[in-house]
Amino acid sequence: MGQKTKYIFVTGGVTSSLGKGIISASLAKLLQGRGHSVTIQKLDPYINIDPGTLNPYEHGECFVTEDGAETDLDLGHYERFLNINTSQANNITTGRIYQNVITKERKGDFLGKTVQVIPHITDEIKRCIKILGNEHNYDFVITEIGGTVGDIESLPYVEAVRQLKWEMGNDCVVVHLTLVPYLAAAGELKTKPTQHSVKALLELGVQPDILVCRTEHKLTKDLKRKIARFCNVNPEAVVESIDAETIYDVPLLMEEEKLDCVVMDKLGMSTDPKNADLTQWHRFLDRHKNPETTIKIGLVGKYIELKDAYKSIVESFVHAGAENGTDVEIVWLHSEDINDSNVANQLSGLQGLLVAPGFGERGIGGKIEAIKYARENGLPFLGICLGMQCAVIEFARNVLGLDGAHTTEIREDAAEPVIAIMEDQKEINKMGGTMRLGAYPCDLKEGSKAHQIYRHLEISERHRHRFEFNNKYLADFESKGMVASGINPDNQLVEVVEIPNHPWFVGVQFHPEYKSTVAEPHPLFVGFVKAAGEIGKSLV
Ligand code: GLN
Repeated sequence: MGQKTKYIFVTGGVTSSLGKGIISASLAKLLQGRGHSVTIQKLDPYINIDPGTLNPYEHGECFVTEDGAETDLDLGHYERFLNINTSQANNITTGRIYQNVITKERKGDFLGKTVQVIPHITDEIKRCIKILGNEHNYDFVITEIGGTVGDIESLPYVEAVRQLKWEMGNDCVVVHLTLVPYLAAAGELKTKPTQHSVKALLELGVQPDILVCRTEHKLTKDLKRKIARFCNVNPEAVVESIDAETIYDVPLLMEEEKLDCVVMDKLGMSTDPKNADLTQWHRFLDRHKNPETTIKIGLVGKYIELKDAYKSIVESFVHAGAENGTDVEIVWLHSEDINDSNVANQLSGLQGLLVAPGFGERGIGGKIEAIKYARENGLPFLGICLGMQCAVIEFARNVLGLDGAHTTEIREDAAEPVIAIMEDQKEINKMGGTMRLGAYPCDLKEGSKAHQIYRHLEISERHRHRFEFNNKYLADFESKGMVASGINPDNQLVEVVEIPNHPWFVGVQFHPEYKSTVAEPHPLFVGFVKAAGEIGKSLV
C-alpha cells in the first residue's frame, strides 16, 4: 500500500473476559479482507517474562510461535483468524519490559540518570509497540492491552498509548471494549459502567475513539446515542458486540456494525463501499454450523477443569470438523480418573482418543491406560507431545515387556529403577535442561500414514518439550510394530511414531494444534477426525 503503518490500540474496561482478543482478531480479519496486511500484538501486564512457566490453571494454554516464543493464548486466535505467523515481538509482558530496561541500565545506557517508569518504562513499551510497524511494513498493527483500565498494572501501558496518540495523531486510534450489562430486575441495559470506564481512561489522558460494547441484548439507536453523548464519541463509533454463538461469528457481527469502516474513517482512510472479502470465512462457518454427522472424541488431559488449557486443540477440532462436515463433540476425560478397571467404561462410545500434552508426573498412569485401550481395540488415536511419550512408554511396557519403561521426567527418587524410554538428551539437544521450542524440520517416511496425511515428505512443526525418544530402543520398537515415521533430519530425534497394523494410531512429539487455522485446517486433525468418522464409528 506504500503508506505509513497505522496503529490501533484495543483497551478493555469494566471487567475482564470481555473478549478483547476476539474483537482484535475480528477487526484484523475485516481489514485483511480489504486487502491490507495486518498483525496483532498483545501486551500483558504481568511480571513473568513470558507465560512459559505459568500453570495452565492460571493462564490457560501457552501458545508457541514459529520462532519458539512461549506466548499468551490470544496469539493463537490471531493466527487462526488471520492465517499468519506471529512471533516473540507479538507478545510483550511487563516482566520483559522491565528486564530490557534493567539490562540497559546495567550496560550503562542511562548513565547518570535516574531510571523511572516515565519516561524509561513507557519508552520501552513504545519501542516494543513500534517494532512491528518499523520492521515489517504492516498496513495496520493492532495492539491489545491486557488487563482492565484502572488496574495498577496497566497504568504504564495506558500512559504509553496516551503519548503515542499525541505523537502519531491521525495514524492511531483507540478502541475501548466495555460491558453494557442487562439488569433483569429493571428490564434494562445499563450504560453507567461504560461511562465510568471511559472516565477512568480520560483521567489517564486517553479519549477513546471507538467504543465496542459487549451486550446480551441489542443496543437501540437511543442507547447508542446516549453512550456517545456521555463518552464524547460519534454515535456510529458506538459499536454493539452482542453475545455470539461461536467466536467465528464475531468478524461477521463486527462487519454488520461496520467496525472496520469506523476505524478506517477515524484514521482518515477512505473505504471501498464494498464489504471485506470473507468468502472463505463464510464457507467455513457454513460447514461448521451445518455438520452432516457427529463424532465423539475423548480428550484425556490433567487440566480439563479449565478448557482454555487446551484452546488450540479444541479449535483445531473445529477446523477439522468443518473440513470433514462433522461436528466433533469433545468428551473431556481426566487422566487421574482413568485406571485399568474403568478404562473400557470411560472410553465407551468414543470414536477417537486424543491424549494431550502436559508436564510432570501427575496423570501419566491414566494416559497410559487409555492408550493401551486404544491400541488394543483399534480405536483411532492421536497422541500429542506427552501423549506421544505415553504411547511409547505404553508400547515399551506392554509389547516389548520392559516393565520399568518410563520417562526421566518423573521423580528422581522413584521407587523402581526406570528404563529411560524418554529422556533429556542433553548431548543431542545441546541445551539439556531447557526445552526444544518452536519450529523444527521433520522428514516423513515414504508410504507411512504420516506421509499419506501430510502428502509431503518434508514438514516443519512447532515443539515445546524437553524429553526425547531414546533411540537406543528404536530397533526393538520397529521390530515389534511401532515405527518412527518422522525423524528430525538434523539430529535423528524421533518426531512421529505410528503402528502400521492399527487402523489409525499416530503419536507426534510436536504440537500440530499450534498450526491449524480456519484457512488451513491441520492435516493431522483432518485425518484423525476422518478416521474417527469412518473407523471409530464401526466400533461403537
Ligand atoms: N513434559 C514433556 C516434555 O517436556 C512433554 C511436554 C508437552 O507435552 N508439551 O518433554
